[in-house]
Amino acid sequence: MPLESSPADLRKLGEATLDLAAGFIANLADRPSHDLSPSAERFAITGEPNELTELLTTVMRAAEPGVDTAGPRYLGYIPAGGLVSSAVAHLLALVLNRFPTVAEMAPGMVAIEQSVLDWMCAEFELPGTAGGLLTSGGSAATLSAVVAAREDRLGADSRGATLYVSGHTHLCVAKAARVAGLPRDCVRVVPTDDRLRMDPRAAARMIDEDRRAGRRPFLLAGTAGTTDTGAIDPLGDLAALAREQGLWFHVDGAYGGAFQLTARGRERLAGVAEADSVVLDPHKGLFMPYGLGTLLVRDVRTLSAAHRHDAPYLQDLVAGDGLPDYADHGVELTREHRGLRIWLPLRLHGVQAFRDELDEKLDLAGQAADELSAIPAVHVPWRPQLSTVAFRLREGDRATRTLFDAIRRDQRIFLTSTTIGGEFHIRLCVLSHRTHAEQVNEAVAAIRALAG
Ligand SMILES: *Cc1c(COP(=O)(O)O)cnc(C)c1O
Repeated sequence: MPLESSPADLRKLGEATLDLAAGFIANLADRPSHDLSPSAERFAITGEPNELTELLTTVMRAAEPGVDTAGPRYLGYIPAGGLVSSAVAHLLALVLNRFPTVAEMAPGMVAIEQSVLDWMCAEFELPGTAGGLLTSGGSAATLSAVVAAREDRLGADSRGATLYVSGHTHLCVAKAARVAGLPRDCVRVVPTDDRLRMDPRAAARMIDEDRRAGRRPFLLAGTAGTTDTGAIDPLGDLAALAREQGLWFHVDGAYGGAFQLTARGRERLAGVAEADSVVLDPHKGLFMPYGLGTLLVRDVRTLSAAHRHDAPYLQDLVAGDGLPDYADHGVELTREHRGLRIWLPLRLHGVQAFRDELDEKLDLAGQAADELSAIPAVHVPWRPQLSTVAFRLREGDRATRTLFDAIRRDQRIFLTSTTIGGEFHIRLCVLSHRTHAEQVNEAVAAIRALAG
């Protein structure tokens, strides 16, 4: 096939690929949730042209081993799903191949991306000065948030820089601090309460002590839904503390931020509207395929102050008509158009469809927690604050690990584990748009049977 596909070639490529994709989706519910046996196959490039059908078969084989993260019984880590309407939007965006990080180059496509950010800012009730950036994921978004905070609160000198997390904050905050070149000892871990939420009074004491010791506290990171258990820090109290102390208030909603779309979530995330920056991952809570994170900031000028650079080879560019140049908001200059992957599904299915799905996930996790608590051998230490249930066997770590191994061998459901307070816990997270009562019941039944 020549490099430039004829319309007929394009149809052939598209139809063969879509046939496979449709078959894959149709069979998702019946496949084992994972196969963790090592895969020996390598996929060398030989140089010769190959038949399309043969290549597609190879790709499907490559997708077999590992964890079926698109499947409805993937309940480990933080599930996503992979809305196919988003994948189709991505295909179109890539065929159009517009340059979306400089407004003048693609004003219409930038307007689409900006409408996604505007919609999110409105959902979080951020002020009119707010703006943001679509990134590859939560970690990349967090990096730009930390850099913006550093620039805004510390300027060029980051000596003594100190930021505050809890023991349940995602690793991406400390990683961002390190990549951003902040001092190695800049991360302070604030204690949590009995529901695993950051203790604002302890944070206040630490900030005071650090200031007296000559350090420069500049950022307080709250989490709206920890990865371990979905715990939500007291965002309102933390926002007030940050404001009082002149700290940048960051909210990591990579997992839990999407629940802002539900009435219960909005109540539990109260205070998020006070944040200086919010991260949320459409490739988690909006069920989009991987590769979509979001950074929202209270004042979009803080992002450009931290990331904007000029160069002679960009001298022809004129400022877009009220549209941002996203290159000034983050680390990437050239990248794909990400907005369409969110805009098309939101417009096609309607926002209410997402609200309903997320509401269902809250219900399902609550039911799973109730049913697991009813198994005599099982202990559920915390009521789920979002859609994650952590549990263990009353007998202790050894027995819980044995149960975990049995769930893995069983292969029907995929769960992951974590260590909280020095104790081994199994966690079950419901988030995919493909996961419904049927799969959660199946998971609970499997745990009941294997827990003995
Ligand atoms: C997943 C997650 C992240 C990291 O996001 P990526 O998209 O994986 O880079 C950050 N914080 C929380 C709470 C998460 O669950």
